[in-house]
Amino acid sequence: MCTEDKHQTLASSAGLGSISVCGCGTLSLHVGGVSVRMDLTAFVQTAEMFRIAVAHLEAQARNLQASTAKLPSMLTQ
Ligand SMILES: [Zn+2]
Repeated sequence: MCTEDKHQTLASSAGLGSISVCGCGTLSLHVGGVSVRMDLTAFVQTAEMFRIAVAHLEAQARNLQASTAKLPSMLTQ
């Protein structure tokens, strides 16, 4: 468990939360009333997981746009 109290804010989003790093290297994700603490490896994996999720959402949005386009037959042949 972390005993350091030197926290540096790395990023923040008004009305959402922030990400800070402790003197011991523990990263903290604060969203709403929830704080999740993790080591650097877990943090990087989490960031990558978010990136992949966003990419999937963007792909789904593109597919949705494509399926409602005027010439869907061009995409299904
Ligand atoms: Zn710490």
